[in-house]
Amino acid sequence: MDIAVAYGDGIGPEIMKACIEILDAAGANLTYKEVEVGEKVYLSGQKAGIDPKAWETLRKCGVFLKAPITTPQGGGYRSLNVTIRAAFGLFANIRPCVSYYPAVDTKYPGMDLVIVRENEEDLYTGLEYRPTENSYHAIKMITRPGCEKIVRYAFEYAVTNGRKKVTCFTKDNILKMTDGLFHKVFEEIAKEYPSIENEHWIIDIGAAKMTDTPENFDVIVMPNLYGDILSDIAAQIAGSVGLAGSANIGSNFAMFEAIHGSAPRRAGQNVANPSGLLLGAIMMLVHIGKTECAEAIHNAWLKTLEDGIHTYDIYDEKKSRSKVGTKEFAAAVISRLGQKPTTLKAVHYAKGSKLKNMSSTPSQEKKELVGVDVFVEKTASADELAKKMSAIEPFMLDKIASRGSTVWPNSLPETNVGDLLRMRFMAKTAVSVSDILYLLKKLESMQLTITGHESLINYSGKPGYSE
Ligand code: NAD
Repeated sequence: MDIAVAYGDGIGPEIMKACIEILDAAGANLTYKEVEVGEKVYLSGQKAGIDPKAWETLRKCGVFLKAPITTPQGGGYRSLNVTIRAAFGLFANIRPCVSYYPAVDTKYPGMDLVIVRENEEDLYTGLEYRPTENSYHAIKMITRPGCEKIVRYAFEYAVTNGRKKVTCFTKDNILKMTDGLFHKVFEEIAKEYPSIENEHWIIDIGAAKMTDTPENFDVIVMPNLYGDILSDIAAQIAGSVGLAGSANIGSNFAMFEAIHGSAPRRAGQNVANPSGLLLGAIMMLVHIGKTECAEAIHNAWLKTLEDGIHTYDIYDEKKSRSKVGTKEFAAAVISRLGQKPTTLKAVHYAKGSKLKNMSSTPSQEKKELVGVDVFVEKTASADELAKKMSAIEPFMLDKIASRGSTVWPNSLPETNVGDLLRMRFMAKTAVSVSDILYLLKKLESMQLTITGHESLINYSGKPGYSE
């Protein structure tokens, strides 16, 4: 099978070479198609750090093992990972965060959790606006198909990897629609997996619990931003950023890597730890169905750690037996192929498991336009504005709000009013987009500065807007 590989920058080439030696020795039977990404490509003028010729190889292979790269200093460069994620629709980011006590010191000996982060939506659509001088907006976008894909992936991952529980983190007590949808979809899909325990935590208390007692968590699925933050925290508290791999999964393409960077100061010295990239490569083997090979390498690697064969970054005079370089570490793993750890828990990957179809159910809800929120610059007080709005048929002014707080008809004197007001108009009769355009024209003729508007739509009688 053909695999696209990038040797990357800094310590990248050394750790990639070590990983490929281990993969070959374990009989992975892969053909490596090299692609150029990283510092040299950035400096040659490619803003996303990828050689245009690489796309065809990536497309043909469908699987990409990537060593860390160096992003050159200075602005104007686009993240290679974000570019690849967007191009290939890599909707899931999977990051196992495991502590290897007693082989490697950690504050959390029992930690063995996997963060499943939604990778395409949420605030990462990058849509930001400045409607008034002092107001900045970012759009948080959550879709039902996006939630269904990632939540189902989390449960399928649990089944495939012998995990017992899937936890969902959202902030749906505040973000009732966006995070509310994520939570709702989680509850729906959880029912399809009765053998897997499920639970939901509001992200703040959930994150506190995860950092206090990570051993109580198994698989945790969450929207993009929370996943970005918590996956770094989880990897850090496992005590082993250098020992963590990550996978970015799409329907037709997947990318595997270490979570650490290119550590340029350690480059070319045969000291770097290849474990993070190796764990990425093991996830890749599971993904392409080579589960026996993945299991053999993973267990040999655990045995190596357990035997105290450590690179400098995890070397500890009391726990380690010998301090080795990158090449020697790879040789130690190869010599242990076929062995299992005895103190650390051996891994087992179920054979030939393939993910279920991730497609979503089409919506059949009845839509009805019931009003509009109009955003205007604050040029007068809310009371003064409201007085002018008596004859805007077929609408009636329902309320005026600023920064999420109502400032008309009822407001508290303490409310801090910003320079952007949201005027909510509800329709008295059936309305169309033309009625909204007429309303906007009328407001403009009253010398109001309109900065935007959002239609208020009911879906099967239920409001599709926050109330
Ligand atoms: P880094 O992860 O490269 O290194 C931080 C420190 O961690 C290093 O100085 C080193 O002491 C240690 N370290 C990291 N990996 C190690 C390993 N495998 N073995 C032994 N020690 C290891 O982070 P950084 O120094 O902030 O970033 C260096 C470069 O890497 C930057 O250009 C950054 O943009 C890039 N980066 C790339 C990726 C990626 O390609 N996915 C991810 C993160 C950072």
